[in-house]
Amino acid sequence: MTPVRRLAANAPCRCDSGRKAKGCCLPVLAGTPAKTPEALMRSRYTAYAVGDIAYVMRTTDATGPKGRADTQAWAAEVRQFSDSVSFDGLEVRAASQSGDTGEVTFFATLAHAGGDVSFGERSRFVRRDGQWLYVDGDRLTRGE
Ligand SMILES: [Zn+2]
Repeated sequence: MTPVRRLAANAPCRCDSGRKAKGCCLPVLAGTPAKTPEALMRSRYTAYAVGDIAYVMRTTDATGPKGRADTQAWAAEVRQFSDSVSFDGLEVRAASQSGDTGEVTFFATLAHAGGDVSFGERSRFVRRDGQWLYVDGDRLTRGE
């Protein structure tokens, strides 16, 4: 496994929250459950950015459409994405929570091999045993 890229505690968090990593995604990646769907979504963006493949996988609803039985192939795909894409920005446009479900609409600025692979998504989340999990999402067209 490629080592996780460093997320410095006092550096601005990779999720563009404007907070330091130690007051944002760093403790969440270290095991403190995200308090909201937005916090979970931000931590997953940061996990992709720093290469924390295991975190991406364990915060995906294994019983949902994004869960994969072949965890080795899944890990390889997540790693390929994480390692080959430049994570250049995150903008959370809307976030809501109703009991143990939530939605977050975001736009991620990404580049791959010199091309723009940015996308927006309305993501769905579910909370089980105190842990928010990513279920799936709908891609948004640019500007939506
Ligand atoms: Zn963050």
